[in-house]
Amino acid sequence: MAKGKINVAVENIFPLIKRFLYSDHEIFLRELISNATDATLKLKHIASIGEYKGNVEDARIEVKIDKEGKKLHIIDQGVGMSQEEVKKYINDIAFSGAEEFLEKFKDEKNDAGIIGHFGLGFYSAFMVASQVEIHSKSYREEEEGAHWICDGSPEYTLKKSKKSDRGTEIILHIDEDSLEFLEEGRISELLNKYNKFMPIPIKFGTKEIADPAHEPKTIKDKDGKETKEPQKMITVDRIINNPDPAWTKQPSDLKDEDYSSFYRELYPTQFEEPLFHIHLNVDYPFNLTGILYFPKLTTNMDVQKDKIQLYQNQVFVTDNVEGIVPDFLQMLRGVIDSPDIPLNVSRSYLQADGAVKKISSYITKKVADKLSSLFKNDREGFEKKWNDIKIVIEYGMLSEPKFFEKAQSFALYPTTNDVYYTFDELKEKTKAAQTDKEGNLIILYANDKEEQHGFIEEAEAKGYQVLLLDSPIVSHLIQKLETEGEKVKFARVDADSIDKLIQKEDSQISKLTEEEQTKLKTYIEEVVPKEKYSVQLEAMDSKSNPFIITQPEFLRRMKEMQQTGGGGMMGMGAFPEMYNLVVNTNSELMQKILKAKGKRTEYISQALDLARLSQNLLQGKEMTDFIKRSYELMKS
Ligand code: ADP
Ligand code: MG
Repeated sequence: MAKGKINVAVENIFPLIKRFLYSDHEIFLRELISNATDATLKLKHIASIGEYKGNVEDARIEVKIDKEGKKLHIIDQGVGMSQEEVKKYINDIAFSGAEEFLEKFKDEKNDAGIIGHFGLGFYSAFMVASQVEIHSKSYREEEEGAHWICDGSPEYTLKKSKKSDRGTEIILHIDEDSLEFLEEGRISELLNKYNKFMPIPIKFGTKEIADPAHEPKTIKDKDGKETKEPQKMITVDRIINNPDPAWTKQPSDLKDEDYSSFYRELYPTQFEEPLFHIHLNVDYPFNLTGILYFPKLTTNMDVQKDKIQLYQNQVFVTDNVEGIVPDFLQMLRGVIDSPDIPLNVSRSYLQADGAVKKISSYITKKVADKLSSLFKNDREGFEKKWNDIKIVIEYGMLSEPKFFEKAQSFALYPTTNDVYYTFDELKEKTKAAQTDKEGNLIILYANDKEEQHGFIEEAEAKGYQVLLLDSPIVSHLIQKLETEGEKVKFARVDADSIDKLIQKEDSQISKLTEEEQTKLKTYIEEVVPKEKYSVQLEAMDSKSNPFIITQPEFLRRMKEMQQTGGGGMMGMGAFPEMYNLVVNTNSELMQKILKAKGKRTEYISQALDLARLSQNLLQGKEMTDFIKRSYELMKS
């Protein structure tokens, strides 16, 4: 037996480790199971090159709780270690890892983000254990077993172990303040979080199943009544992980059902089917595999739940993929597995890292390619999905120039009549009718078919196309499309009268004289609340509505952009709620208003209220007054 002292620079490293990692004690289990997995994979490799002849196929890892003994066991059947190896790998190498960790992060103890991602390795066991024992037996049969004991001080003992079967057993004597790790529920939770897809089967406890070798017989009693013999149950090991998750397989070996069942495996509480998936698979210039799913995006979706999960070699690392997956794709679900993502660094460093940047643009490209092929191969199906995916695509177009370019081929612009155009198709379709006298192509849109019904009708009567653009960031996107495209302008149908929105030749002749127009304007302004409506006389078609309430495109769009953030609009103060009241001077009603004796105010109020009513702007007392006035007017 040997007693020794671990070569340490910092004597009291263990209390330090505990303090530094306070919030993330639970990672010890992930680390120990990772080591057990590594040891098993190493042995499988050695066997594959013929240097080991024993059975490696059934190798598994076991996690066992000994509640009375207050011990947690992690047992593997991997390469194992001789006494020499324990000295070398545990005392020197594992320790240097821990020391390096402390050196690196001693000033960053508050950045829990980093700490959670940094594998402290074997010594993380001391975060929860007052004493750790290793029993190990090398796969090389001539080697004796090793038994190592360390109580968290730099002193350890190393002696012969009676362990006779290959592999390593780590025994944690759980600390009084970490007794939670003796609870089956807690360990189950951790295994499920970190080890659900690890490549070696993990046994945790047992379960009862119906004995497959026993078929219950049907027995007839003396009255001829049939009953079934009770089912025989047997106890089997409970394997808690799926060692071959879908993302590790070749796309050609997977069917659509396999992708949906994997989705359910990842997110057991999601009942809605994903819309489609993207299988990621690249090994140069970096290594990355994974499957991304496009979920149906709903307005009340909890984006904090069921996020993309990041793995390294099938070990769960985090579900915070900020910096690795571009922002606009963080609403997707699925997994990414890459050993090439540096995790022991801060987020800001991560974003500047060359390899990570490449990964992020690879993902963007793959998503764009998938969307483009879905569009090409099944345009009808793609159009059906459009409303559920447009937010992601529009957000991507705004935030990633490369994606914007690629999206030109599949981004869709639906009309209020459910016809879906690409931007090029839309320009082609509207060019002839909707180019104004300055040569600008005016693209009309609505954001609410019901509210803007009258305006849409007016536009369609002129043979114009009206898009239905209703996502919350659409004003930003329009702004971008206008700057990118030459001589293309967007206007919401209710931004002005239709003839003003797409001005063709010089405006219609007014039936009213200058003098009559001045008078009319004064009459109207006396009745209409000034702080809300600015009155504008316009000579329009005599059959168009007499009063129209519009909201100037520019002001409204700026306001929307301010509300949805970005665009340099912050700090500009709130935009006031202002409308234009467009008065059609050619409407017959204007003659009536001009010539009215006693009822002028009523006519103006009535016309204003009707204009408001058509846009859902009439409520409360104004509505009550309107109804009363309407009855009064019917009497006269
Ligand atoms: P890392 O896993 O990053 O090498 P660790 O501190 O986790 O660092 O482990 C240190 C070393 O101890 C490992 O590289 C390995 O050689 C050895 N080791 C740890 N656990 C086991 C195990 N279960 N079986 C065999 N060797 C192990
Ligand atoms: Mg390790």
